Amino acid sequence: MNNVDIYEAIFNASPDSMLIFDLEGKILLANAQTEKLFQYKKTDLIGSKIQNLFIEESQKQLLNITKAFKDSFFNDTKNTAQELWGCKNDGSICAIEINSTSIELNSKPFILACLRNVTEKLTAYKKLNEEVVHLTTIFENSVDDIWLIDRDYRITLINKVFQNSFSTAFGIHLDKGMIILEKVLDPNMRALWKSRYDEVFRNKQRLHIEDRVDLGFTVVFIELYMYPIIENNEVIGISIFSRDITSRKTIEEALRINEEKYRTIFENIQDVFIQTDQDGIISEISPSINNISGFKREDLIGTPVQELYFNKADRELFLEEINAKGEVQDFELKFKSSTEDFLFVSISAHLVYNAEGKPYHIEGLIRDISDRKRNEIEIEKQNKKLISQNSELEQFTFIASHDLQEPLRTLISFSNLLQEECKGKINEQTDIYLDFIEKSSTRMQKLVKGLLDYSRIGKEKNISFVNLNSIISDVKNDLALIINEKNATITSNELPGVLGYEVELRQLFQNVLSNALKFSKKGVPSNITISATESEKQVTISIADNGIGIEEKDFDKIFILFKRLHNRNDYEGTGIGLAHCKKIIDLHGGSISVESTLGAGSTFKFTIPTE
Ligand code: ADP
Repeated sequence: MNNVDIYEAIFNASPDSMLIFDLEGKILLANAQTEKLFQYKKTDLIGSKIQNLFIEESQKQLLNITKAFKDSFFNDTKNTAQELWGCKNDGSICAIEINSTSIELNSKPFILACLRNVTEKLTAYKKLNEEVVHLTTIFENSVDDIWLIDRDYRITLINKVFQNSFSTAFGIHLDKGMIILEKVLDPNMRALWKSRYDEVFRNKQRLHIEDRVDLGFTVVFIELYMYPIIENNEVIGISIFSRDITSRKTIEEALRINEEKYRTIFENIQDVFIQTDQDGIISEISPSINNISGFKREDLIGTPVQELYFNKADRELFLEEINAKGEVQDFELKFKSSTEDFLFVSISAHLVYNAEGKPYHIEGLIRDISDRKRNEIEIEKQNKKLISQNSELEQFTFIASHDLQEPLRTLISFSNLLQEECKGKINEQTDIYLDFIEKSSTRMQKLVKGLLDYSRIGKEKNISFVNLNSIISDVKNDLALIINEKNATITSNELPGVLGYEVELRQLFQNVLSNALKFSKKGVPSNITISATESEKQVTISIADNGIGIEEKDFDKIFILFKRLHNRNDYEGTGIGLAHCKKIIDLHGGSISVESTLGAGSTFKFTIPTE
């Protein structure tokens, strides 16, 4: 066997492609693997140039290899591993790793090349490389702090984000190779971190922690994920991902406080918050429902709200209104009660719309108005009773005073006749008696007349625009005699017109002014001033005199029927005038009062509403 034969035998047994070519690249031998690799027949390969098996770019590389052999042949045996791009017979490209060495055959220099298809390896490597690039990008650009440690707590990898945040927080620069626990200066923190690392080493499981870190100048919240790095079932290290969740926590905290606030309101309001879905099923109701109806919140949720209605028809009316207006205000109805028949409630509610603008539930407040309602009903009852009693009383007063007039008139006529017949004829005593009878019956006539007038006030309800200035001038005319007698002056500002009962108002001014003249101080000329103030709601009239005045304790008394403060011999009167005035002012919906100081004059004030 010559050399070539030996090489050929080795060649053919090799799992790699093998070629022998001269320094020009001309192939002397090629094995079966080469045929397979490049898909050329051996006969085509032998004698052709090795360059033809590679793409143009790699051909240059190949030339460099042969050139290197040429330059230093026999001096040095070269064995260079290179990667080239081969070109198969079908035109497809493959990655070839070429190892070559110089050999001598028959005293001639040749190159023995061993070729291996590394396409798959190269692709895998490239992919891996790409992945590493991606991972490094993620690692460095992550918002999370990332670091890896080995079993000695030594940093094996650390991203810049963590380096920066650690340096900002603690003023320490962390780097690969450092033992991280040594860099945690606070002993408590160090112990805490050691226990965390150890837990992962021990349990071989991921650890998730949310932590509150007090940095002294600020408090931050972090979320930690610690993953064990496992090799051959042993934890050889830990990768740690830490994220600042302060803003999330702050929002969560704010939400929690808000939620708590509303929950407290929800749980403590006396009114009842209620929410129903579009089918009227109660989805939420505050616990206060128990206080007003006796039913429990838990029992009501998920049940139809109409079950709470005492009258089912009210539900229809409520829905009609809310669907028409989108809301209802103070809708009054009766609710069932677990303890009594029913309770009165008032509902204010509105429709709640979804994103498409369709109503999908109703929410509102229910208020227990039972007490108010019961009071209203009671007041209404009392009012009706009072109205009927009042009208009976008025009727009685009217009838009594009216019917008393007739016998009185007869009594007065006959006492007059008796006086004409007997005065000065029988004896002095009889004259005095007759005088008493006459005076008393005349006085009684006045009283009865006053009572009749009193009962008639407001009977003819003719409301009209009343000119108070002309009323005063009329009254002044009527009282001209006494004004003169008392040497009185009555001054009046321009008074506004009012809507009222003219006859009655005239009587009122007449009564107050004649009192002011009557109760003047002896020997002092009367001075009476009439003025008015106007507000949005009413006109207030004041009539001030400089008369004898009234004690404060009597301010209210004088408006009571027949109440008088003076002896008839001192001041004439019936005690009806001011009661009249009060009734007239009541009729107008106003009020009357007096301000006075005994001995220093009085001011009567009354209001007439303008609305
Ligand atoms: P009469 O004038 O017939 O007595 P009134 O009802 O008009 O009845 O008045 C009730 C009482 O109020 C009077 O008796 C008097 O004592 C007191 N009074 C009324 N007006 C004045 C006044 N201007 N100054 C002092 N006292 C007055």
